[in-house]
Amino acid sequence: MMSQEPTRILILGGGFGGVYTARTLEKLLAREIRRGEVELGLVSRENYIAFQPMLPEVISGSIGVLDVITPIRRLCPSTSLYTRTIDSIDLAHRSVRSTAGFGSRQHHLHFDHLVVALGNVTSFAGLPGLAEYALPFKYLGDALALRNRLIHTLEEAAIEPDAAVRRALLTFVVAGGGFSGVEAVAELNDFVRAAARSFRTVRPEEIRVVLLHAGGLILPELPRSLAEFAQRLLMKRGVEIRLDTRLAGATAETALLADGDRIATRTLVSTVPSGPNPLVAMLPVKKERGRILVDAHLQVPEVPGLWAVGDCAAVRDTATGDFCPPTAQHATRQAACVARNIAATVKRTERKAFAFTALGKMGSLGRRSAVAEVFGLKLSGFLAWWLWRTVYLMKLPGLDRKLRVATDWTLDLILPPDIVQLKTDRALGVRREYFEPGQVVFREGDRGDWLYVVTEGEVDVLRTVPGRGEQPVRRLGAGDCFGEIALVSDGGRSATVRAVSATSVLAVDREAFQAMFASLPPLRGFVEQLIASRNA
Ligand SMILES: Cc1cc2nc3c(=O)[nH]c(=O)nc-3n(C[C@H](O)[C@H](O)[C@H](O)COP(=O)(O)OP(=O)(O)OC[C@H]3O[C@@H](n4cnc5c(N)ncnc54)[C@H](O)[C@@H]3O)c2cc1C
Repeated sequence: MMSQEPTRILILGGGFGGVYTARTLEKLLAREIRRGEVELGLVSRENYIAFQPMLPEVISGSIGVLDVITPIRRLCPSTSLYTRTIDSIDLAHRSVRSTAGFGSRQHHLHFDHLVVALGNVTSFAGLPGLAEYALPFKYLGDALALRNRLIHTLEEAAIEPDAAVRRALLTFVVAGGGFSGVEAVAELNDFVRAAARSFRTVRPEEIRVVLLHAGGLILPELPRSLAEFAQRLLMKRGVEIRLDTRLAGATAETALLADGDRIATRTLVSTVPSGPNPLVAMLPVKKERGRILVDAHLQVPEVPGLWAVGDCAAVRDTATGDFCPPTAQHATRQAACVARNIAATVKRTERKAFAFTALGKMGSLGRRSAVAEVFGLKLSGFLAWWLWRTVYLMKLPGLDRKLRVATDWTLDLILPPDIVQLKTDRALGVRREYFEPGQVVFREGDRGDWLYVVTEGEVDVLRTVPGRGEQPVRRLGAGDCFGEIALVSDGGRSATVRAVSATSVLAVDREAFQAMFASLPPLRGFVEQLIASRNA
């Protein structure tokens, strides 16, 4: 008898949608996988699934960083895991391309069934300065980066003599009054206020935590009475809530609001907006607000063998007729359904339509308080918080993680917050920066640590003349560079540079500039000529 080619099922994404699809398929097709009739693969950037509902608690350290993630290999032992970044999806040739982790060799994976579970991404497009200065809050790395930033600002504030800078350092702004914004601001507020007690020179009344929300009441997904409870509680705990207020942009030192107001801060967190994953955006299939439109079986009607689940899929809720919201609750139910339908296709049995009614909604408000609407019942305060912890602890994948989190929570009741700052930042060679009209890029006498190339807008170069103050030397626009004199001379800045209009620049750091300057003679020649012409 001729041996048949195995059916190749490939899952893209290691979040709730992807991992729960693989887990269910392992159970439903266990015999076929054992016999080599089915091959199951999963491609994801990380080799773990992050339990996002618990991410806010990583900010305060009440849960350890590694305790909210579970290795995918342990959860899906019969699935071949490719820990890689996917570069492209080719539906015509039924293949997915990724690049090897070391080197730049390209790798193609072929499929008969493809499940797209790539989630969505934080997108700051159209909001100047946000990509450069706002901290997103979606992945584990974001929570860790935010925690480090909070400790860093407290450390700086404790020794900062300038009152205005100190005020900005102790001002923390979170944009977005939905679930993730509210949970993040609640944890952030609790943490900075508790951690500040370890800093002798920081007074509690100096700390300002601001939540910006575009609507008239936070948590619009919840019944009014619960949202009002959450709003009152946060305000009582010192969070300043600015309603009907949109974030419009950011600089390194300011949150820019749509109404023209500005808040001086060194910590701006934005939980909005999210946009489609670029891979999903490029797929030539029908979409609904950037999400892949699927039928009741979660298959893309125009491409047999293509399926989508989770945040990147537009799935109709059969009960309400609306599209399902982007939640883990829905992603896991869709994953179970898609797995059943793929298994039914492989075994030539009947497929089933997706049907699920959300069990409820819950949001933690930090320090033993939460709001919840479960089976139509409205709960707030301690009981809701107890329910929140019980439900999420049960849902956390892996017994070892459950034990670790339960231990973290117990210890957190008696131990003070940890204020260790992990310096994990890697120096960036090149970065983008944005400056508001009138904002100073650097001042005369500052250390010369970056070379700037204007990509948009204009800047004025100004030099101080004794008795006459700052005098304009020249105006520079797109394509011009500045800052080279101090980098070459290794001295201080010889002039002040101020943005004339809204200006975007590419900034090249000292090491990257000096490495290129030393080893690229044409660049050296160009820079030397430029300096000579400027000095003339
Ligand atoms: C802070 C926060 C709190 C939340 N709290 C709750 C809650 O309490 N309850 C609830 O129900 N929901 C909650 N959610 C929403 C929930 O987490 C999402 O709806 C859910 O994670 C969606 O799952 P997904 O699999 O569709 O996408 P994701 O979990 O986003 O997974 C996408 C996967 O695709 C991978 N990926 C993307 N692009 C590539 C690429 N190019 N190459 C390789 N891999 C790639 C990613 O690495 C990731 O593994 C919360 C979300 C956040 C951010």
